[in-house]
Amino acid sequence: MLAYTYIEKGRFELLDKPKPALEGPRDAIVRITLGSICTSDLHIKHGSVPRAVPGITVGHEMVGVVEEVGSGITSIRPGDRVAVNVETFCGECFFCRHGYVNNCTDSDGGWALGCRIDGGQAEYVRVPFADCGLTRIPDTVTDEQALFVGDVLATGFWAARISEITEDDTVLIIGAGPTGICTLLCVMLKRPKRIIVCEKSPERIRFIQDHYPNVLVTGPEDCKRFVLEHSEHGGADVVLEVAGTDETFRLAWDCARPNATVTVVALYDNPQVLPLPDMYGKNLTFKTGGVDGCDCAEILRLIEDGKIDTTPLITHRFPLERIDEAYRIFENRLEGVIKVAIEE
Ligand SMILES: [Zn+2]
Ligand SMILES: [Zn+2]
Repeated sequence: MLAYTYIEKGRFELLDKPKPALEGPRDAIVRITLGSICTSDLHIKHGSVPRAVPGITVGHEMVGVVEEVGSGITSIRPGDRVAVNVETFCGECFFCRHGYVNNCTDSDGGWALGCRIDGGQAEYVRVPFADCGLTRIPDTVTDEQALFVGDVLATGFWAARISEITEDDTVLIIGAGPTGICTLLCVMLKRPKRIIVCEKSPERIRFIQDHYPNVLVTGPEDCKRFVLEHSEHGGADVVLEVAGTDETFRLAWDCARPNATVTVVALYDNPQVLPLPDMYGKNLTFKTGGVDGCDCAEILRLIEDGKIDTTPLITHRFPLERIDEAYRIFENRLEGVIKVAIEE
């Protein structure tokens, strides 16, 4: 089968590999029908994910059809359409039992697919702990509608959930890339009084204005003044930082009102500075990143009910044979790309 493979720093290649086989009783083999490319794939390509294993098939955002299941799997059957979770989790350890599946202590736990074990930019994938990691897609939900359930949308859902948003809140979301937009969609479900998105790309600003006209938009230079002008208590009640630069980290706490919650979803290249003397008395609550992707069934129900729709994010579609071209466009942010769907 065709499998897009991490060869070495700077190089992915489409190789011919054997189809994966079951290795344990809780495994499943899924025939991928649709996949996507995530910024984390680019991090592997650029060598900034040291635990990524050269030779593995990349890709961790995908949906497909179950082909085969191990003897220990009863919750899903061959023929089921499923969303694949980015995280592998056992469901039994201390962290899994408390819903912190990102911290699963199994050796395959956490982000393994497409990083430490073969992933889904391929025709087939083996999913360990398939009873935890696969979620059945309702018949009325299409592959494109379900494509982001296991990764970027799970991240946005989790970020909105842990931010304890109320209907009185002014919520600031910094960054309107794919994860920022998914976060916005999930924040909208909490019906806060006001949502402000901070973004610098004119294309992404236009996307927000076209699709979500009730959301206020500002640029980073003007962000603090704009938030002060559009909030009642000297800043945002909740801030979600989804951009991941030194500047946006500073903006996140600076635009928050005293006693606000600041949820940091972003992944940074550099350590960040918390100037505690300047912040003394501001009494902020910080929550830091690392999605616990354990709400996929609920997210699929919300999609089925028409409450979340991420299909506008799919701006480009390519067959697996042309995945190099898809990467070139996604990596260089050409043609107004937000997300690419790979038909496998
Ligand atoms: Zn990802
Ligand atoms: Zn676990």
